[in-house]
Amino acid sequence: MHEVSLMQNTIEIALEHAHQQGAQKIQRLKMRVGEMSGVVPEALEFAFDVCTQGTIAQGAQLEIESVAVVCYCPNCEQEFQPEDVFYECPQCHQLSNHICQGREIELTSLELAEFYQGD
Ligand SMILES: [Zn+2]
Repeated sequence: MHEVSLMQNTIEIALEHAHQQGAQKIQRLKMRVGEMSGVVPEALEFAFDVCTQGTIAQGAQLEIESVAVVCYCPNCEQEFQPEDVFYECPQCHQLSNHICQGREIELTSLELAEFYQGD
């Protein structure tokens, strides 16, 4: 499953960061997931539960922010949100292949705790 390896990488980054900060626990993670990233948020949440087992991120809250697709039309020099899988500019009806956002999968913030306080 694609989401599992993706989540493994994300957790690794989070754990590394927590380690550098001397944190004992990760309380919350926020991610941005583009609508065009091909990732299913539910699968990501499931992968999160699996990947955090036995780590300091276990039991942490995962927040997934969905990012809409935004394209850029060089003709009209403006950004637009495509209506369907064809990225057609609503003004000049040219197809655009300039995708500004919607493909990202990234960890945007981490909430750490210095000491593990238990549940
Ligand atoms: Zn246009």
